[in-house]
Amino acid sequence: MEYRTGLGYDIHRLEEGLQLVLGGVHIPHTKGCVAHSDGDALIHALCDAMLGALALGDIGQHFPDNSDEFKGIDSKILLARVNGMIKAKGWHLVNADVMLLLQKPKIASYVPQMRAALAEVLGVEIDRVSVKATTNEGLGPIGHEEGVAAYATVLLAD
Ligand code: MG
Repeated sequence: MEYRTGLGYDIHRLEEGLQLVLGGVHIPHTKGCVAHSDGDALIHALCDAMLGALALGDIGQHFPDNSDEFKGIDSKILLARVNGMIKAKGWHLVNADVMLLLQKPKIASYVPQMRAALAEVLGVEIDRVSVKATTNEGLGPIGHEEGVAAYATVLLAD
């Protein structure tokens, strides 16, 4: 058996009056992500980690942000397509670990729902998908509630 690891990162600006969707879950909040898609930075980081593990480029190459096809798209659809790409090449996800950086709101109570949503899309057991979150201690643009960022790592096996 061979293994591959991948790393992903994403950041989106937050603005008043937009929907906030993270890890495939709608989170009630006054601000949401500015994006061509639904702005799910957590899923975008995860997609990039999976693509990176197989050197398949990045999410922007596969799902261009100037394409009408992806306007307002549910990022779970993008994740399903990335998962399909790695499966088509004979690989599968061993585990994923995602770190979300967000000042407000507290998302701890949504984490179980996010893990369940991601695991369902990926077709794996929930204990293979970790979602963690931290504030930015009020520092920088994330700390000032101007944006939300996420890092992801994955392990794939063939
Ligand atoms: Mg993004």
